[in-house]
Amino acid sequence: MSFTIYSARKIITMNPNRPETTHVAVRDGRILGTGTLEELAGWGAHELDDRFADRILMPGLVEGHSHTMEGTFWRYIYCGFFDRMDPNGHIWEGARSIEAVVERLQEAAAKLDGPDAPLAGWSLDAIYYGDRRVDRHDLDKAAPERPVGVLNASGHILNVNTKALELAGLLRPGINHPGIPLGSDGLPTGELKGPDAMTPVGIHVGFDRDLLACDESGLRQFARLCVRAGVTTAADLANLLPQDAVKMMLRVTGEADYPARIVSLRRLQNMTVPEIVDRALELREMSTEKLRLGIIKVVSDGSIQGFSARLRWPGYYNGAPNGLWYVPPEQLREMFALALEKGVQVHTHTNGDEATELVMECLEEALRRHPAPDHRFTLQHCQLADAAQFRRMKALGMCVNLFPNHHFYWGDQHYAMTRMNACATAVATGVPMAIHSDAPVTPLGPLFTAWCAVNRQTASGRILGENERIDVATALRAITLGAAYTLKLDGEIGSIETGKRADFAVLEDDPEEIGAEKLKDVGVWGTVLGGRIFPAAEI
Ligand SMILES: [Zn+2]
Repeated sequence: MSFTIYSARKIITMNPNRPETTHVAVRDGRILGTGTLEELAGWGAHELDDRFADRILMPGLVEGHSHTMEGTFWRYIYCGFFDRMDPNGHIWEGARSIEAVVERLQEAAAKLDGPDAPLAGWSLDAIYYGDRRVDRHDLDKAAPERPVGVLNASGHILNVNTKALELAGLLRPGINHPGIPLGSDGLPTGELKGPDAMTPVGIHVGFDRDLLACDESGLRQFARLCVRAGVTTAADLANLLPQDAVKMMLRVTGEADYPARIVSLRRLQNMTVPEIVDRALELREMSTEKLRLGIIKVVSDGSIQGFSARLRWPGYYNGAPNGLWYVPPEQLREMFALALEKGVQVHTHTNGDEATELVMECLEEALRRHPAPDHRFTLQHCQLADAAQFRRMKALGMCVNLFPNHHFYWGDQHYAMTRMNACATAVATGVPMAIHSDAPVTPLGPLFTAWCAVNRQTASGRILGENERIDVATALRAITLGAAYTLKLDGEIGSIETGKRADFAVLEDDPEEIGAEKLKDVGVWGTVLGGRIFPAAEI
C-alpha cells in the first residue's frame, strides 16, 4: 500500500526517543513512522512530498480551554483594546479609547440595513479606559435610534445604550437589582452584570441566543481560527450540548474538509448531578474522530479581576468582599462522587485559592468513597494556587490547566497579587500541566500562550513573577502533549509518533531557535489534520 513521506527542515516530535527528525511517513491519516528518508522508505512504495522542506513541523497544537463561540462572536463588531485576528486572517486594530469604540460602532451602524436594526459588539475591556465606566450615553453616540450592546471581554458584563434599555422596559426609575447599577438620575447606567441582567436586554441588541452556544457558521469560523493558530484539537469547554446542537456538530465536524478536532464539554447547568452523568455517558458514545464528547465542566467560582473569585485569607488587596460560589459545595461533592463512580471525567473552573481548596477537599472525600485510578480530574484556570495546593493536586492525581494569557492582558491590573498561574511550581511539583487562552476571553493562539508562560510579561512590559517563568521546551510540551493529557487524548495526539494521528502544526519559524522573547512571532503556515493538509492562506 502506498503512503506519503513528508520532508521538513525540522520535525519537533515531543517523543523523547527521537525528539527531532527530518521526515515523517503518513498512511491512512496516521503516522507510520518518523526518521530519515532511508529508514522510512523501508515501508515500501511511497510518494515523497517536499512541500514542507523549508518549514518546521510540530505536533498539531492542542488548545485545552477555549470556546467555539469565538467563531460566532466575529459576526459582531470587535471592540477590544488589543489588535486581534479574525477568521479571515484580517487583523482588527485595537480600539484604544472609548471614543475609538464609539467611532467603530458608528461606522458599523452606517452599513446596517433598516433604521432600527440592532448593533452588537464584543470584547470591550473597560479596565483600560481609566476610572471612567462606559455608560449608555457613550453608546448612544454610536447610534441613538438603534439598540446597541457591547459584550465585555470577560463575557460577564454587557453594556447597552438607552434605546436597548427602553426596548427591554428597563428605562425607568425604581429598579432594584444587583446586576443593574443606577446612575445619579436614578435610571440604569446601561451596564448589565451577570446572565440574569444581561439576557433580557441581550435579545434586543442582537445577542438573540444563549451566548455559550455556537451555531453552524460559528463552528466553521472557529475551525478557521484554529488553522491560523496551528491548532488541530481544541476543547470547547462549556457547552450545554442539546441534542440538536450535537447533531449539527457531528454533521459539520464529520465533513472531510472540516479542519479541526473539537472536544466539547457539557457544562453542569439545568440538570441534576445524576442527569448530567447519564448525559455524559450517552454523549461519550456519540464521539467520532473529530468530535469528542463525554467530559463534564463545572464552574465553581467567578473571576479574580471581577472580584467574584473565592479567595482565602487575606482576601482581596482592595478590600472587596469575597466572591461567589457558582455551584454549592454540596453539589460539588455529589458531582465528584458520582462521576468517579461512573468513570466520567470532570474539569472544574476555579480561580480563587479558596475555590481550589474546596474542590480538592470534595475530590479527596469522593476518592475515598470511589477510588479511581487515572481519573485526571482537571482544575481549569486555578490562577491563585500556592505550592501546597500544587502538592495536593499531585497527591490526588489531578491535572491543571493554567491561564498565562492573563499576565499580558490583565497583568498590570493584577500587579498587586503575586503567584498567579504558577507554571514553574506546577512543573516542579509534577502536576500534569496545560496552558490555555480561554478564547474568546483572549485570542486563540497556543504559541502566544506559550510566550506568555515563558516571559510573564504584561502589556506595559513589566515581568509578573519572574520565578514562575518556564522554558520554551516546557511551554511547547504544555500546548501539545500537556493539553492532550488533560483530555485523555495523549495516546492519540500531542506528539509525532508511530500510530498517532497525523496532526501537525506547520510553522514558518523554529520555535526552539527563534528565542523566548519572539516565540509569539513564530509564523504559522497552516495545519495537517489526520493527514489532510490545510494551508492557512486557503482556508
Ligand atoms: Zn472558559
